[in-house]
Amino acid sequence: MSNKMKFSLEIFPPKITDGIEKIYGCLAGMSKVLPDFISVTFSAGEAKAGLTTEVCEYTQNTYGIPAVAHLTCAGQTKESIATSLQKMKEAGIHSILALRGDLTAGKKVSDFLHATDLMEEINRFGDFTLYGACYPEGHVESHSFDQDVDVMKMKNDLGVKEFLSQLFFDNDDFLHMRDEAVKKGVTASLSAGIMPITSAKQIVRMVQLSGAKIPKKVSKLLSKYENDDGALYKAGLDYAVKQIRSLHKEGVNSFHLYTMNNINTAAYVRNGIEDLL
Ligand code: FAD
Repeated sequence: MSNKMKFSLEIFPPKITDGIEKIYGCLAGMSKVLPDFISVTFSAGEAKAGLTTEVCEYTQNTYGIPAVAHLTCAGQTKESIATSLQKMKEAGIHSILALRGDLTAGKKVSDFLHATDLMEEINRFGDFTLYGACYPEGHVESHSFDQDVDVMKMKNDLGVKEFLSQLFFDNDDFLHMRDEAVKKGVTASLSAGIMPITSAKQIVRMVQLSGAKIPKKVSKLLSKYENDDGALYKAGLDYAVKQIRSLHKEGVNSFHLYTMNNINTAAYVRNGIEDLL
């Protein structure tokens, strides 16, 4: 296994109503962070649909940075997925993070139950490198952690090249998942999803959305700096840097930063791990 650390960034696209121009400044800043790739999230639903494909195309053509397009299948039909894949292919996108997406009332009728169904469809279509999601603390709907690792093995066997993990704050959770996945024969690389804490409000929202737990070390930071936003911001970014450095000591070589489109956050973390890249 190569020792070179991989460092990638996740951004979200603007809403269709805002137009692609809204992301230009963000991408100019992110390109200076020199990521190995930038992944662009996907929002299903007409009102919320963003510009995932266009942002990926712009990133690749303007900055020469490979893009990974997220694609969710909940609520989609085989026809709508085929249309998305065709558009991505025409835009020169080679990599897709294949996801189920969250289930909401409007997404119940679908040709796809799981991300693995979408992966099969993408494989039938051909021409794409697959990425998949994994969950260091287990997916909220899973009956057991074992089930999650079985799903990772299914994704692995469908050709996933790399797993991008859900955010987590306790490194032991990620290392446990890695060890269990390796035991079950997962050979794809595992990238640790790191979400820098930038404010108390942001962390509460992220924990609600992801189901990640807040370990004591983090709640102590939140209480210590509850009246000092600037100090909390710095302490949160330092925590992310420490998380990466200590995982690297444990042999983890790939990191995916949830940037929330914040250039300063991405640059700060990159500076903190520069010597490892
Ligand atoms: P799945 O792999 O389908 O898993 C969902 C549940 O089904 C799990 O409990 C799993 O154990 C079970 N399961 C899976 N496959 C099978 C099977 N074959 N048989 C039986 N059980 C199975 N959401 C968005 O809407 N847009 C995004 O851009 C986005 N980006 C994300 C990026 C990352 C890195 C991560 C970790 C998540 C992202 N999400 C995004 C959220 C994601 O859509 C949700 O977490 C969703 O609930 C599950 O997606 P999944 O692909 O992991 O689903």
